[in-house]
Amino acid sequence: MSAVPLKNDKPVEAGVRTVTVLGATGSIGDSTMDLLRGARGRYRVEALTANSNVEGLVKLAREFDARFVAVADASRFDELKNALAGTGIECGVGESAIIEAASRPADWLMAAVSGAAGLKPALAAVDRGTTIALANKECLVCAGDFFMQRAAKAGACILPADSEHNALFQALSSGNRDELTRVIITASGGPFRTWAAADIENATLAQALKHPNWSMGRKITIDSASMMNKGLEVIEAACLFALEPEEIDVLVHPQSIVHGMVEFSDRSVVAQLGTPDMRTPIAHCLGWPERIAGPAVKLDLASIGQLTFEAPDFARFPALRLAYDALRTGQGATTVYNAANEIAVAAFIAEKIRFGAIARLVEATMNGWVRAGNLAPLASADDAIAVDHNARNMAASLLPQIAAKAS
Ligand code: NDP
Repeated sequence: MSAVPLKNDKPVEAGVRTVTVLGATGSIGDSTMDLLRGARGRYRVEALTANSNVEGLVKLAREFDARFVAVADASRFDELKNALAGTGIECGVGESAIIEAASRPADWLMAAVSGAAGLKPALAAVDRGTTIALANKECLVCAGDFFMQRAAKAGACILPADSEHNALFQALSSGNRDELTRVIITASGGPFRTWAAADIENATLAQALKHPNWSMGRKITIDSASMMNKGLEVIEAACLFALEPEEIDVLVHPQSIVHGMVEFSDRSVVAQLGTPDMRTPIAHCLGWPERIAGPAVKLDLASIGQLTFEAPDFARFPALRLAYDALRTGQGATTVYNAANEIAVAAFIAEKIRFGAIARLVEATMNGWVRAGNLAPLASADDAIAVDHNARNMAASLLPQIAAKAS
């Protein structure tokens, strides 16, 4: 049985729902808190977490009268405790406190910690068998099979929060899983969609950070420019919906209005549309199995006029091709794909490598990994974290030669 509910048949829960937001001070966290702000009386906040942004977290904790807050950075304990003195809000620091936040009883949890640090807390929520809106990509990219199996076993309900996967989730309820023939996830194409390969190779950080449609954090914006983000999403889709690589197509759609489509055996294609605003898929997850009011701008297709589509160019955007390679190679390879990319993006931001070298470093790390015969299946979060760690080391060791090489 899939942990992603493929039919909207869960009974609606009456009364106030308790919610926890992991990564409350981030971009997804901010959108989630905004939705909660607009639906006061319907939700009660159990726990909120951050990495080190004590000020932002305390502000939210006071505003929403949270029961428990946690920051990962253990050096901030006194600051956190003093800022909450007299409020009755419990607090904790360190990874164990983030896991405690995820473990406390709540009807719904947003998993929006960034990076591999999000895996263990999300698993703690999975083990409670609760409803989880999953934004953190690493849970799936680094440990997808294991994560989804554990969720199914615990009876957890995984709601895809990323816009493309949420679109597929919504479209999938139009048919049965065995009637699905293909899913299509759309990509804006990013700022370099029309650029020649030589110009992409030498793109600057400022150019890579200019996303045409979505307002997101720095790392994910750079990943959108390289189409690595779309590659990560292909891997996510494979894990969430148990799809083969051949069942997942990417379609470049510069307007970012159609987010995802599902093709069924009768060749009907069901799509989900909306203005590019993360609050729409998050609202879908928050309200599920009902729908709640969303604050995004209403879609006005007449004023948009045209929706256009293009095939992705795997030659100019090799990061996308590498995602399919990683999926075909198997679980550990997708972890390596992600880990090497994190090293590459950090090196690009630090001006150690050119933009075009991001995908080259990822490819070299994946090849090195396969050559070394490191392809055992991942059986635990610690396995996934170990592969992530080792792949980062391998990518870092390959960095100087990739940096030195011309394209
Ligand atoms: P941000 O960087 O904006 O926020 C990350 C959040 O996680 C912050 O609250 C941060 O705390 C916290 N955090 C960071 N590191 C740790 C750690 N080691 N331990 C505990 N908490 C930590 O990220 P986004 O909100 O953009 O993204 C979150 C996740 O959702 C990512 O996996 C991303 O890929 C995914 N996603 C994001 C989308 C978007 O539109 N932004 C779309 C789809 C998916 P602090 O503020 O203290 O640093």
